[in-house]
Amino acid sequence: MIRDPEHEKMPRKQLEELQLKRLQAKVKEVYEKVPFYRRAFKEKGVTPDDIKTLADLKKLPFTSKLDFRDNYPYGLMAVPLEKVVRIHSSSGTTGKPIVAPYTAADVDMWAEVMARSLASAGMTKHDVMQNAYGYGLFTGGLGFHYGCERLGATVIPTGAGNTKRQIILLQDLGTTVITCTPTYAFILNETAKEMGVDLRETKLRLGICGAEPWSEQMRKDMEEKLHISAINIYGLTEVIGPGVSVECEHKNGMHIWEDHFLVEIIDPGTGEPLPYGKEGELVITTLTKEAQPVIRFRTRDITNLSVEPCKCGRTMVKMARITGRSDDMLVVRGVNVFPSQIESVLLEVEGVEPHYLIVIDRRDVFSAEDLEIWIEVSEEVFSDEMQKMERLEKKLRAEMDSVLGISARIKLVEPRTIVRTEGKAKRVVDRKELPNSGLITK
Ligand code: AMP
Ligand code: ZN
Repeated sequence: MIRDPEHEKMPRKQLEELQLKRLQAKVKEVYEKVPFYRRAFKEKGVTPDDIKTLADLKKLPFTSKLDFRDNYPYGLMAVPLEKVVRIHSSSGTTGKPIVAPYTAADVDMWAEVMARSLASAGMTKHDVMQNAYGYGLFTGGLGFHYGCERLGATVIPTGAGNTKRQIILLQDLGTTVITCTPTYAFILNETAKEMGVDLRETKLRLGICGAEPWSEQMRKDMEEKLHISAINIYGLTEVIGPGVSVECEHKNGMHIWEDHFLVEIIDPGTGEPLPYGKEGELVITTLTKEAQPVIRFRTRDITNLSVEPCKCGRTMVKMARITGRSDDMLVVRGVNVFPSQIESVLLEVEGVEPHYLIVIDRRDVFSAEDLEIWIEVSEEVFSDEMQKMERLEKKLRAEMDSVLGISARIKLVEPRTIVRTEGKAKRVVDRKELPNSGLITK
């Protein structure tokens, strides 16, 4: 369902006029109110008056995760703290956490884009949504919560974890929609099975999953195992949290709510903007956020944009599934490899579970040699004869070789060797850290 047709179906020309107007105002605002941006603009020799068209966006400096760290905690804010009604935070990859302050208007805008997103995913006010994203500092829990209430549907704020209780509530309260990370959807299914519950026999019909990379094969697997339709949703703390983009019923790319988020794709190496259709790093400028607007934020997420008209009638561009993060990329003997590619190979092969770990011997940040992939096999395969395991291992090795162009060692491990996470899964680990990583059960 289209919640806000005026914006979601706005003719592109009109949308671009709206974006330009909002961009000019926001750029002026951060220039006046945030010393960090004023300095960065000056270094690039650009002033707000230089933004005459949307193409002028490329004259502005980028913002990175590092800038968040350097200006921790309140250095990027454009309003006084007394205007802030809430603060979220994400752990970031190193050092200080990332801080995300919201004004009342920001919370309202977020609830609205989330309500739009849930509607786009196929939810209506008649649904009962069990929200198994983590509540607290993480944006997932409250982001979905507010969106659901705004839509007028029923939210059950279980948060992540306590999986057995989740299954009981899901059955008893007639949950129709589950919202959680893709990893957690599989944990729910496993636990249900252990409890003798078949999720296919419940009222569950829809899953809205995101916050971590997953693949098309994983979607198929989830849809079959849980007997649901699974929808991909994307967002990030620095920008707003979940609700930046989401799929419609056609499931071929996530519509970006471009009246609030202006997007570009750049070459991660050179920083040059790339045309629609080309794969590169997603860069986002917030057009309406008050407390902490971001200008040209480098997400590190690799995707491509499509402006082709969608059958749903929305005019907003679609971003493809995230294929990796530019800082997650492994360079194995000169070949670029993303964990997501490894995952897609695994999911094509019968008898293996979507639980895996990439064990590397890291020599420096971006290179990895002697790649070893730990893969869990299903109970059936594991209890079968040795020969079958060997055949499977050989098959996986050959597939990796032909699809990724790398030869990796394959280590088949018994069910439940790899620890299940309730939040985002960690897939790459240095061999030295493995014993104390908490990622394996023994
Ligand atoms: P955080 O700010 O901690 O919520 O993390 C945001 C990051 O999670 C994004 O930059 C992406 O790398 C990842 N992420 C969020 N949603 C998705 C999704 N649907 N597919 C792939 N990665 C995602
Ligand atoms: Zn669509």
